[in-house]
Formats: sequence, structure tokens, C-alpha cells
Amino acid sequence: MDNELDPKVEQLNSLKAETLACQNCHLRAGCQGVVFGEGDPLSPIVFVGEGPGQTEDELGRPFVGKAGQLLDRILEAVELPRNTVYITNIVKCRPANNRTPTLEEMKYCLPWLRDQFRILRPHFMVLLGLAATHGILAPDLKMNQVHGQWFERGGVQMMPTYHPAAILRNSNLKRPAWEDFKEISRAVKAFKEKREEK
Ligand code: URA
Repeated sequence: MDNELDPKVEQLNSLKAETLACQNCHLRAGCQGVVFGEGDPLSPIVFVGEGPGQTEDELGRPFVGKAGQLLDRILEAVELPRNTVYITNIVKCRPANNRTPTLEEMKYCLPWLRDQFRILRPHFMVLLGLAATHGILAPDLKMNQVHGQWFERGGVQMMPTYHPAAILRNSNLKRPAWEDFKEISRAVKAFKEKREEK
């Protein structure tokens, strides 16, 4: 285990240092700092959100504000606790006033996410909300048509689902989001069981 963990931690630390110095787009000038991401480097699953909000910008950690607390509760409820997954965002700098990042901003930031993926090599990716779904899968997708479905891209199983902030705003989304998270947890458990059999 350690053999696999050590190089990943080292590579992530050095990528993090590079990312923190990024000035690739104008977002960096309007925020306090770059929020790289965090979690278990050996997890088979990565959650990708939209971008840091105010609390995340202040603390330098992803999903630690209200939406993050809801995400933590959902993950706990489906027996996929936060410390067993990796969490990051499609843009690493907070867009002013929490607006949705533009496709261009996401394009500037995507190389960092790609580098994170090269190191983490996850089997699953969950796209939290439309920004991550549009930036990673396709810009014309509608969440009510694609949430809960697995899309295979380059050997990675990707699922779009509702962003926890959207669930906080609209309680009608609780039920479909819950079904999606149950499916995510089922898939991860099945994957881990299969891996242990080998
Ligand atoms: N919303 C996101 O998309 N990402 C965060 O890190 C926090 C809130």
C-alpha cells in the first residue's frame, strides 16, 4: 500500500505547489488563493465541483462551506465517507460573487485537473453540477436528462449529478440526488470488492 501511496503523495504535493503559483487566467487576481483539492490519493473515486466559494477561498480547501457540509452528510449516509474519496473543482480559483465559471475559464484550468487525474488514476468521476458536466462531458447537456447515468471516457466511469448547492436551493432535487449517490456508492463498493478478489 505504502509503495503506491508515497509516489502519489509526492507527485500531488509537487503539482499542488505548481498549481498554487498559477496565473493562467484573471480569476487568480480576484481570489485569496488557489484551492487545489484534497482527499485519499488511493481512492478509486474523484468528485469534481464547480469552483471554490467564499469559505473554500478563505480556508484553501474544497467543499467546506454549506454545500460542502451537505456533501459530507450525503457521503456519510451512503457509506462513502469524505476521507475515503478525493474532492476537487473544475476551476481552482473562486469566481467573484460565486458566479458560474465560463467555459473559457474552465479551459484555462483543465490542465491542472488533467494532471491531478494522471496522478490519481481514479476509476470513477462524479461531476457535481452543470459546470463540471459541461466542462468535462459536453456543454449542451441538461442535468435532468443525464444525472445518474455513467458515461465512459478514456476508461473512467463518469456520472453527472446535482450540485449540493442546487439541492440546498431546491428540495425537489433531494430524491433524485439521493438515488444517484446510492448508485455511486454501490458501484464503488462493487469495484473495491472485485479488486480485493484479485
Ligand atoms: N462549490 C463547489 O463547486 N466547490 C467547492 O469547493 C465549494 C462549493
